[in-house]
Amino acid sequence: MVNRISTSEREVMRRLARLGIRPQRGDILYFLTTREPGEVEALYAEADRVRRECVGDEIHLRAIIEFSNHCRRDCRYCGIRRNFPGVTRYRMSVGEVVDAAAAAVDLGYRTLVLQSGEDGWFTRDRICRMVAGIKALGDVAVTLAVGERPVDEYRAFFNAGADRYLLKHETSDAELYARLNPGMNLETRIKCLRALKDVGFQTGSGIMIGLPGQTLESLAGDIMLFHELDMDMIGCGPYIPVAGCPTEWSERKREELSFRVLALNRVVTRDTHLPSTTALSTLNENDARALALQRGANVIMPNLTPERYRRFYEIYPSKKRIEVDTRAFRAELESLSFQLGRSISMGRGDRAGWTNA
Ligand code: SF4
Repeated sequence: MVNRISTSEREVMRRLARLGIRPQRGDILYFLTTREPGEVEALYAEADRVRRECVGDEIHLRAIIEFSNHCRRDCRYCGIRRNFPGVTRYRMSVGEVVDAAAAAVDLGYRTLVLQSGEDGWFTRDRICRMVAGIKALGDVAVTLAVGERPVDEYRAFFNAGADRYLLKHETSDAELYARLNPGMNLETRIKCLRALKDVGFQTGSGIMIGLPGQTLESLAGDIMLFHELDMDMIGCGPYIPVAGCPTEWSERKREELSFRVLALNRVVTRDTHLPSTTALSTLNENDARALALQRGANVIMPNLTPERYRRFYEIYPSKKRIEVDTRAFRAELESLSFQLGRSISMGRGDRAGWTNA
């Protein structure tokens, strides 16, 4: 019996192939908007194939330590923004951060992600001491996510040993960006991302899906921008509304589009590290992680912030219910990777070809 491929199937395959060679906004929009379940499944299958071919079967674990929830910014969508009411503020000391990192290293983590609001109390010197203290623990990669800083501070952090830097741009729609991030602009954000790459960091960005006023066209623009900037890590998850900043998109739509954006990022950017985000698991606690790992993701970022601080870093509601017991969660991830025929990486999980020279 001859298996015939229909004209429309051939068209979908042609579009998917083109996305991996010369991505075009029209092809991205096509997969963001199609209502054909078969076409969406073809996208997911291609993302899984590209993931296997370009980054392999290993799942990289990055331990996050949220060391300060003070922030000078007032991003409308954020539950720890400067003027958000009722937030209990905390800062960990440099020593506490290094101790938390040592505990994560003992559990087998080889990448630590140090995340905070834009907190001026953490000066260049304090962050450099924190990075140096962690690098002294052994061959571990340090990722910083501490917001927009002057380029000379980026250089100092890199020289202190930091390997990676995360700075999400959240939306590539400049007008929407300015509306949601008072006092900030997209141009500066992108300049920072380019500067971080120039300094030598493996650099990550990301977006939220379902922000108020966001469009599918702007999501397509986000994926094109990730490609243009050659991001080494891309974190995309659904927007989970905080008080005073509602979304027009249903939970179902935000979840569905988050999977499509993840898969498109994999097909377009090929060997970039893509996490299954905590926000996605917050919307769908049961299946999201496994589905994301089969739709392009190759990274999971467990939260190893000490228990006594963790509940205060609530950038969106209900985030705290995830990953309460760090040892149990690690065992759960190992079991999941086994079920999927994957393995947990024992390495640092650098992007292929990168060296901290
Ligand atoms: S999103 Fe980041 S920079 Fe904006 S208010 Fe929240 S912690 Fe601060």
